[in-house]
Amino acid sequence: MAVETRASAFQTAQRRFDAAADVIGLSDDARLGLRDVKRELTVHFPVRMDDGSVHVFTGWRVQHNISRGPAKGGIRYHPSITLDLVKALAMLMTWKCAAVGLPYGGAKGAVACEPSKLSPNELEHLTRRYATEIAILIGPEKDIPAPDMGTNPQVMAWIMDTISMHSGHSVTASVTGKPVDVGGSEGRVDAPGRGATYLTLEGLKYLHVDDETPTVAVQGYGQVGRSTARLLAEAGLNVVAVSDSRGGVYNPKGLDLAALDEHRQVRGGVSGFKKADNITNPELLELPVTVLVPAAVQDQITEENAGRIRARMITEGANAAVSPEADPILHDRNIFLVPDIIANAGGVIVSYFEWVQDLQAFFWEEEEINTKLHHVITRAFYEILHTSVNKRIDMRLAAYALAVQRVANATTVKKAGVGTRPVSINERYGFEMPVRQYEVKIGDRVIRIDFAWVRLLLGLEPRGLKWHWTREAFQNDTDRSNDLALTRWRIVLVTWWDLLHNPNKIRANLPELER
Ligand code: NAD
Repeated sequence: MAVETRASAFQTAQRRFDAAADVIGLSDDARLGLRDVKRELTVHFPVRMDDGSVHVFTGWRVQHNISRGPAKGGIRYHPSITLDLVKALAMLMTWKCAAVGLPYGGAKGAVACEPSKLSPNELEHLTRRYATEIAILIGPEKDIPAPDMGTNPQVMAWIMDTISMHSGHSVTASVTGKPVDVGGSEGRVDAPGRGATYLTLEGLKYLHVDDETPTVAVQGYGQVGRSTARLLAEAGLNVVAVSDSRGGVYNPKGLDLAALDEHRQVRGGVSGFKKADNITNPELLELPVTVLVPAAVQDQITEENAGRIRARMITEGANAAVSPEADPILHDRNIFLVPDIIANAGGVIVSYFEWVQDLQAFFWEEEEINTKLHHVITRAFYEILHTSVNKRIDMRLAAYALAVQRVANATTVKKAGVGTRPVSINERYGFEMPVRQYEVKIGDRVIRIDFAWVRLLLGLEPRGLKWHWTREAFQNDTDRSNDLALTRWRIVLVTWWDLLHNPNKIRANLPELER
């Protein structure tokens, strides 16, 4: 009898990588270096407990890839964590950082322990000892940890202090997600929810949702879910349902979130809120809402319930809330998914800002941080959306394809010893059209631009993308000479003029201009 074995977390991560590598036609050689992790350190260390006994804990730090910069990734304290899962999460961090364009590789760390059963004293001893054990790998230029499940800003402050004691001076940039008092960043706490909010609003714009007030259901009213709900409500959406591990509440007319927060403080959960009906978590997922935000735990939308989801779009706040089997079902049902890899990337983006601020010892106002977060995450969203539309693949696969391409490029460029090289629009954004150029005459000069930009100007791209891309195109073109910079908008005008008055010019020009 054949025995069915479930894929491990790392095997699943490798399968996702394989699918993305297939999309971009990555060579076998390039796959070899990216399919496995670069470094994995296992440490066993003793900690004296409050009762005088000694307990030996096991921990890990794994770096998947450092081609684009120092490794970046959280530290998780959880009783059932395994090396396999840490490797999978490290690989996910490589793709997440690359997908949003951060100059980082990917890493993850963990200690197998139950933090809620440790006293603050034991937690501090465990953390300092673990930090000492992994100190050979971490540091501002090498690998920068952050909080994850079971750890928090306090844990990060202990790690930073331990690294600083070894160095003899404060090394604030050694971790992110620290309290503001020791070099943390404004806006870090709300960052994952804020990023999810920005992308939900962009998704609604792209979908041209014309509901008067789009409705929202949030599963998991914790750090990510609560800020997403609050910020979406502030943006004018109507949050009609939220839940936590004990159950949820629903009011089709909308929830009073301030009153709900008071109720939650007193009762320790959202259930029983007077101004709404109690519902279960599975019921919440299937509500007829515009936006569903699963922000609790993994595997909430699976092949079992994906067919019954009634939301128009899903913003995947929690990592892996949608199972690999559910992805194609949602895609076929035309439910728009903003995948975890960008939906909750606000956290790592503001962590990046924190690291930059620490390195410069110059701190920014929260407003500036939010503006920069908006820019970085929205740009990533449109890059991924564009790849998804052009390659006719779902948003998750598009995000992976883009990320894997960027990491592969970084590896190839270094190996070839070329340093930097111009990247065509096709390579940068994964277009499938041939690399051709279009000639624009400005005065007595002839300027060539990638034909892909002309496509954008022609409006051949999906609605909603055109203006964003027109702006992006001329901010990012590969020829960065001042001269061209000055003429960017003239190129746009002349191209439009050509299109209106001489539409055959593009076709006539192309054969000669092909590279
Ligand atoms: P959290 O512990 O603050 O909140 C989780 C919420 O989900 C809680 O309300 C909890 O009661 C609820 N919950 C737990 N199990 C549930 C279940 N089975 N059904 C319904 N609700 C359940 O955690 P968080 O920091 O908000 O993280 C949530 C998710 O977002 C995780 O997947 C995490 O990895 C991811 N994430 C968090 C951050 C961050 O900075 N906090 C950043 C990126 C990704």
